[in-house]
Amino acid sequence: MSDGRRIVIVGGGTAGWLTAAYLAKALGQSVRITLLESPEIGIIGVGEGTFPTIRDTLRFLGIDEGSFVRDASATFKQGVRFTDWQPATGDQPHSYFHPFEPPFHAEGTSLVPYWLLQDEEARPPFAEAVTIQNRVAEAKRAPKQPGEGDFAGPLNYAFHFDAVRLASVLAARARELGVEHLSGRLQEVVIGDDGRIARLDTDAGDLTADLFIDCTGFRAELIGRALGSPFHSIKNQLFTDRALTCKLPYDRPDAPIESYTVATAHQAGWIWDIGLPGARGIGCVYASGYVDDERAAEILAEYLGAAAGEVTPRRLSFEAGWRERPWIGNCVAVGLAAGFLEPLESTGVVLIEAAIGMIAELFPHHGPVDLPARRFNALMTARYANIVNFLKLHYCLSRRPEPFWRDNADPASIPESLRELLEQWRFRPPSRFDFLLDVESFAFFNYQYILYGMGFRTDLSAGRADFPDMAEAQRLFARVRSFGERATRDLPSHRSLVEQFAAAPVSR
Ligand code: FAD
Repeated sequence: MSDGRRIVIVGGGTAGWLTAAYLAKALGQSVRITLLESPEIGIIGVGEGTFPTIRDTLRFLGIDEGSFVRDASATFKQGVRFTDWQPATGDQPHSYFHPFEPPFHAEGTSLVPYWLLQDEEARPPFAEAVTIQNRVAEAKRAPKQPGEGDFAGPLNYAFHFDAVRLASVLAARARELGVEHLSGRLQEVVIGDDGRIARLDTDAGDLTADLFIDCTGFRAELIGRALGSPFHSIKNQLFTDRALTCKLPYDRPDAPIESYTVATAHQAGWIWDIGLPGARGIGCVYASGYVDDERAAEILAEYLGAAAGEVTPRRLSFEAGWRERPWIGNCVAVGLAAGFLEPLESTGVVLIEAAIGMIAELFPHHGPVDLPARRFNALMTARYANIVNFLKLHYCLSRRPEPFWRDNADPASIPESLRELLEQWRFRPPSRFDFLLDVESFAFFNYQYILYGMGFRTDLSAGRADFPDMAEAQRLFARVRSFGERATRDLPSHRSLVEQFAAAPVSR
């Protein structure tokens, strides 16, 4: 029997509301959940890209896809296209695609070794050879048909959305699920003699709880300021620490919408470009140790071209790292209060999903509420460290000449575990056995797309005899090509799918 536990969440951004809705759904009526937020402080309101895990989360919350697309101003995301992360070859800019769809695998044959064994000059780019998603996304097609059912389709996908509207969608669902909403500012965190949070003094009254969840964003009011959980900075591995963000309207109402994030590298970072229904969300991510704010503004302006005069960018600062102990006593932090790496590959929401999935499953309905803390802390910090490896992979393989890129390729800035993996991957491709699934957000094939997109060489030539089915592999490569062509003909345009979903009411 439950002893009617009470959870108080402080913060009403994506982390706060997603945590509230998720726990209300997972823990049911036996737990009372209250969320306090300060409209005066507001939310960070950035974070327009997600990873495919978001579909399971939204499905679990009971949100239907049509209303989600409409209310969060969402579009579909099939991956990320990286441009200029390597120097250009001749007059061709370097570009590669990281699709969400795993490499095609049929009848026991993996295409990856056969792609690696092909002549480098003659073979198509990795993502184009092993999945149809590259072709579909480049043709500005959607990953699914409108009638395909909620969060389902032939191709893996996530969403882009308006971050402020996402928080409202989640808030509405959390309230439906019984979450109590208080508006007001947290004034003081009162710590008891046992070192735990005794009470919160707030504009909306004093709050007590069995478990306090800190979702106050970078302010980290509970876990940082009140409880002093040390911040583990990794700015010596991930160098970016600022972003200039803006929204740019399309030049015509029927302009195609890209169904992938475009990530264009510059001298000291990269620029995201995300297609939303009414505008593009654009952000210049940079390392202040390599370019100053004025130069970053120029880089963004060069990217925007003639449209630069139409926007007033907003500047945000961050530092890559995480709280060494995100759960202390009766307080656990989720979202930016717990940590942040950088915007690359959209891991903010992924980390929130990982944390709340664990809290929901490990939550003790009786007994000391901090029983899961040690396990939670070990799993979350391992997950952060593993994501660092994946993000660093994007930078450390670059041969760009600028100091930011040279320092990124310096082995001293590469985590040792990644250096060890890179050494092995010179002789075989990334494998599922390289990763412990419970602490990973990215799979071996995500690593393959980045490695081979960046031109990394895995030399299988000495083991060529182990891969005797080249004729069969060629048949499968041809099948990927013809499926891709057919899908490009059959799937609707991305804009038309978004518009169909956004037209209320949705009948599917
Ligand atoms: P916030 O949105 O800052 O919310 C904090 C809440 O706490 C607010 O409601 C605030 O009012 C409240 N609060 C604070 N102090 C008090 C107080 N004293 N009293 C009461 N309430 C208080 N993530 C992705 O998944 N994809 C991306 O593409 C992505 N891009 C990003 C780009 C940048 C430049 C940055 C900085 C982050 C990005 N992120 C991205 C991360 C993403 O923005 C966050 O993970 C997400 O928005 C969650 O934020 P949050 O809820 O933790 O914090």
